[in-house]
Amino acid sequence: MTLNKSLKNTLEKRLKNNPMASKFDLNKSDLYDILKAKGITHLYHANTVSTSITFLNQGHLLSRKYVQDNNLFQTPQYTDAKDKKFGIFDDVFLDFIDIHKEWKKHDFYGPFLFAFDIEILRSDLIKTLRITKKNSSNWKDNEPEKDWYYSDLSEFNDNYKKENKRNNIGSMIILKDIDGKLPLRPYLSKMIFDNPNLTVNLKGEKKYLSNLLGAKLYEVVNDNNYIDIKRELRHKHNAFQCQCWWEYNVMHLVRFNNLKRLFHPKP
Ligand SMILES: [Zn+2]
Repeated sequence: MTLNKSLKNTLEKRLKNNPMASKFDLNKSDLYDILKAKGITHLYHANTVSTSITFLNQGHLLSRKYVQDNNLFQTPQYTDAKDKKFGIFDDVFLDFIDIHKEWKKHDFYGPFLFAFDIEILRSDLIKTLRITKKNSSNWKDNEPEKDWYYSDLSEFNDNYKKENKRNNIGSMIILKDIDGKLPLRPYLSKMIFDNPNLTVNLKGEKKYLSNLLGAKLYEVVNDNNYIDIKRELRHKHNAFQCQCWWEYNVMHLVRFNNLKRLFHPKP
């Protein structure tokens, strides 16, 4: 081994064992305490049906980059180019809230929701994390990183779930140091799937979409042995006080491709 190579290896090892801490890497135990105090019991990840099926088959939430590099399937996201530019393409995202439930409308990222027990923060699966101040799709080139991430948990504690509800939706956890994969087990506690209340034509027959998809998802969930994980069909019989049935209905009429992108098991 040449001297240069040996030096390079040593430096790489040192960097790996002691990565240069960024002031935006926050302490997960402190965050756990803050979330507990705010009554938050779960962390969430919403996605399209087809990308969620990839995650279930792989047993992990995966970064956009991981799925791409491993030739797995995921639905296109218009944010991919931006995510690459801002260095978050290989990151995994978690929300503090069930956005659909909180905002009473469909989740833009998709109708399938993974809910993890908050105890995941105390496990070895997560080392450090970042929290965004606003959704990364709203980040701008000329902004400093401090406009994107909290550098102080007390600031997050003061802001989150206070006054401006808009702040809540943009705040999410970004996991950078997990090589693009977060195991579903053992902290996945629930899977929630939207019923869009739509009837579609399949080979000349009218079928209730959530029944069709439910059967499809059941195959995957069963095959992958998630049978013990709690499941919920959101709005099984009605969607009082929620806009999603209306939104999905309009999508069915005027933006069918987007409906397909969200719900189709293999678009
Ligand atoms: Zn709804």
